[in-house]
Amino acid sequence: MHDSSVGGPLLWPADEPWPHCDAPHEGGDHALAELRLQQRIRASEAMHPDGDAPVPGYTPAEQAVLDRLDSDETWHDSSWLEGPVALLPLAQLYVRDVPGLRPPAGAGADLLQVLWCPFDHPPEQYMPRTVVVWRSAAAVNEVFTSPPEPPLVVEEYLPEPCVLAPEQVTEYPGAGELSGELLEQIGDWSLWQAAGAGVDSSYAPYPDSFYGSHLSVAPGWKVGGWPMWGYTDPAPRSCPACGTAMDPLLTIATFEWDSSNGSWIPYEDQAAASSTDPRYRDLTQPTRIQIGSGYKQQLYFCPAAPEHPHIELMQ
Ligand SMILES: [Zn+2]
Ligand SMILES: [Zn+2]
Repeated sequence: MHDSSVGGPLLWPADEPWPHCDAPHEGGDHALAELRLQQRIRASEAMHPDGDAPVPGYTPAEQAVLDRLDSDETWHDSSWLEGPVALLPLAQLYVRDVPGLRPPAGAGADLLQVLWCPFDHPPEQYMPRTVVVWRSAAAVNEVFTSPPEPPLVVEEYLPEPCVLAPEQVTEYPGAGELSGELLEQIGDWSLWQAAGAGVDSSYAPYPDSFYGSHLSVAPGWKVGGWPMWGYTDPAPRSCPACGTAMDPLLTIATFEWDSSNGSWIPYEDQAAASSTDPRYRDLTQPTRIQIGSGYKQQLYFCPAAPEHPHIELMQ
């Protein structure tokens, strides 16, 4: 809980109420306790790559759970939930680890915590609802070590616990946010050649797609940066309380990269990403989160007043 992480645990004060969601829920899935066991089995397998000590065999209890998950016997619809739903830890980011993370001025905050309710919330949003908390890590004395959990989750909204090693990258706005003049220049192959950018000549007929895939907007989880548009065209994001143009806070992405934008793979993952070893199959989706059919959930905040409600978009 003293690391920047996805999927918890959070540095949460023992004397502060844990957030719950009382909106109507849709969707359903497996019992969380059984999915947690599956996560622990995956983590234990990841600790034993081939050549090391073999993965210990499943206990009869573990095997029984895996069989039940496979057979969908543990599937329940959301009517199985009773009362408000306890939120799950989604992300915890220390300012010291994330160069682009700017806490609200004045309050001494150095830790951003995002929790979410792991269900769809129709009709307003077919995504989890998030709660955003800024706090000072030093002000947390006694830590809440056993937060409540929902009995049930949508499996695609259960983050795989990960420790983060954030990296700063340079981005440029998506093509949909550029002026006509800049778009023309980006689509002019002779300008790319004159610049000596060394772009592969297979992009000569459509250099704008090189810009879109490899230069402009980073595809994975990120703080700040330029928004990736795709589900809709670019649209203004105004604070619902005061109308100020909102700034991007956090992007929760389904995929870190895909076959079209592999230049965004972190250097340390490149060898593994080109491996056919099945142990590396989850590199594009280390958090196992899926938004819609592979989209991103973007959180925006009001720069004029941090207490104004944040908004979230699917893109
Ligand atoms: Zn909810
Ligand atoms: Zn505002």
